Amino acid sequence: MRPLSAYDLLRVWELGQNRPTWKRALLLLAPAFPDATHRELASLSIARRNARLFALRERTLGSTLNAVARCPGCSLPIEFSVGVRDLCDLEPGEPADGYYRLVVEGIEVHFRAPTSVDLAAVADSASLADARRRLVARCIRRARRDGVVLPIADLPDPVVGAVGDYLATSEPAADVRLQLDCPACGRSWTERFDIAAFFWGELAAQVQRIVREVDLLARAYGWRETEILAMSAFRRQAYLDLVNG
Ligand SMILES: [Zn+2]
Repeated sequence: MRPLSAYDLLRVWELGQNRPTWKRALLLLAPAFPDATHRELASLSIARRNARLFALRERTLGSTLNAVARCPGCSLPIEFSVGVRDLCDLEPGEPADGYYRLVVEGIEVHFRAPTSVDLAAVADSASLADARRRLVARCIRRARRDGVVLPIADLPDPVVGAVGDYLATSEPAADVRLQLDCPACGRSWTERFDIAAFFWGELAAQVQRIVREVDLLARAYGWRETEILAMSAFRRQAYLDLVNG
């Protein structure tokens, strides 16, 4: 994995305009893993995808995440800082063959973790509940009762629900949550932390800064965008210091 350069940040931002979050996550990872095909990245479990996004964020912008959440009690915006490694296990474990096994209501289910391909396939779901059910159904490889194979579409809701719950707890990197406390009203709550959406938000801010730098240097020295983006951040800053006097 290599960190994202100024050129990568601009390019990813450009390609990700009006794209869903799952697609933006893959666009962020692509330049960092130049030897991986799109198919390979899209086939990573969401836990592994997130672990790579957290690691890439750390390599590119440092290990401290500064975020804001709104208190559900009094609506106060709460600013907080958290370390990448405090939020996510960067090497999530998975079963050796990639399949989990669970017995619910006498039905034995074999299933795998969802991937970006699965998220894309259920993106047109009518509701969150529908998306979750479709997602879990896609991940079930086989269901049997007393050795008899059952059609996956006919599995009872509690079985599908149990598989979804199992995935949520066995792969915490797939659904990262953190505990927050409000200093104003004392409320404690659990906040979901979506690294793909968070990193994308940061990317937009980085792009604004880079574009301003390119604009200043291009005006001052007549250099082209590709030349300025090819410089290290240190070299760019040295010239910016001269321009800003
Ligand atoms: Zn509050």
